[in-house]
Amino acid sequence: MQGPDIRRKIPAVQKIWQSMPSPLPVAGYWIQRAIDRTLLDLRDQAGRGETPPPLAAVVEQVLAEARKLALPSLVPVINATGVMIHTNLGRSPLPAEIMEAVSRVSTQYSTLEYDVESGHRGSRHDHVARVLAELVGAEAAMVVNNNAAAVLMALSALARGREVIVSRGELVEIGGSFRIPEVMALSGAVLREVGATNKTHARDYTGAINLETGLLLKVHQSNFRVVGFTEGLSTAELVKIGRETGLPVMEDLGSGVIDPLRLDGVVEPSVREVVQAGVDIVTFSGDKLLGGPQAGIIVGKAPIIDRLKKYPMARAVRVDKMTLTALEWTIRWYLEGRSQELPLWKMMSETLDSVQERAAALAARVRGRVLGPVAVDTASGFAQIGGGSMPGTQIPSCVLRITPDDARGAQRLEQRLRLGNPPVIARISHGSVIFDLRTIFPSQESLLIDTIVMALQETL
Ligand SMILES: *Cc1c(COP(=O)(O)O)cnc(C)c1O
Repeated sequence: MQGPDIRRKIPAVQKIWQSMPSPLPVAGYWIQRAIDRTLLDLRDQAGRGETPPPLAAVVEQVLAEARKLALPSLVPVINATGVMIHTNLGRSPLPAEIMEAVSRVSTQYSTLEYDVESGHRGSRHDHVARVLAELVGAEAAMVVNNNAAAVLMALSALARGREVIVSRGELVEIGGSFRIPEVMALSGAVLREVGATNKTHARDYTGAINLETGLLLKVHQSNFRVVGFTEGLSTAELVKIGRETGLPVMEDLGSGVIDPLRLDGVVEPSVREVVQAGVDIVTFSGDKLLGGPQAGIIVGKAPIIDRLKKYPMARAVRVDKMTLTALEWTIRWYLEGRSQELPLWKMMSETLDSVQERAAALAARVRGRVLGPVAVDTASGFAQIGGGSMPGTQIPSCVLRITPDDARGAQRLEQRLRLGNPPVIARISHGSVIFDLRTIFPSQESLLIDTIVMALQETL
């Protein structure tokens, strides 16, 4: 048979539509897209001399394709990596109770920029500014899209066309796309680096100050640590230089914890401590150690925050009502002593005993449902904070360990889990697939077991 003759055997679009089940399993849009794709494939195949399958098989193919197309792209996953603030997996999870408040505010009109007492226009900053300032002991606060935007805007508003002095030990890169020298260039401020990678002294700062200097900047060494002979200025020491020279001092804290955090001998200073040291403005993220929504938080002296609120860039990096609601509630939970109920802090503070118990129970349940050449047990492990916060600090944890008999089994299983529904993100270590229980919510356990069992059935 020749190509054109085979092509005539490909079912017509109308025929395929007539054979569709009623009601349609997914929106008609996706069916049409799937028909287009399937017919394209069949025409290609016909061109190569392949006879098309019968109508029923084509319909099956279209339905399978349509179901795939109809799946959303941004979906929940089970984070079995043990990295709590996992930037690729959405950083801090938010509590359902707070998301209900977000839903209430977002599905109706709200007081976003309206002052009910005066009946006039209000400011979107006010909702969180008061509670935020109260929480960290600052005069004023504002919120923008993320901390990168906060740093960019603050540098631009306070030091455009002027020099900003930073220690060479603090010219950090965060997540590949945020680098202090590049953000500085973009802001229009001129980077004046001082000191050495491991040591910067007060005289390095004072020696660099001149008539062009606009700001002294301290950047938290978020995602790395320098060990050995190191020296840098404390916030208080930098503030002292700022006071003596009449220059504003800014600190990019990165993560920003509310209660001072000591882990593994590493201490993360709280925002309140940094504010108390006298810094003019402090910037930090909403979705790192705060455990809230993505946001860039700026706290500090009222005149400077007022200047920032009026700076034209503020309009370009402003946050929407969903973020503001989630952040207001996150802050309120801290004030009300409920921060331990935020998913991030729940995870962080779960006792090792409890994590071990959950791992053992999970292992027993998986073992009970899997027959085949695979070992299922638990092992001790270490979870991490992640998100460029407190690098190297290890939080004792417990993992579920699945070890297939054959050497490539772990790779196949890890891949199959990633493609599962929901996707399960685990890691491979020494021929085993490892699931860290600290980042797996108790409410996800049954679904996790089903997904693991299905993946094992398909890969063993
Ligand atoms: C994470 C981080 C940023 C960027 O914050 P985003 O909220 O991710 O935009 C900037 N500076 C430091 C020091 C950080 O740790």
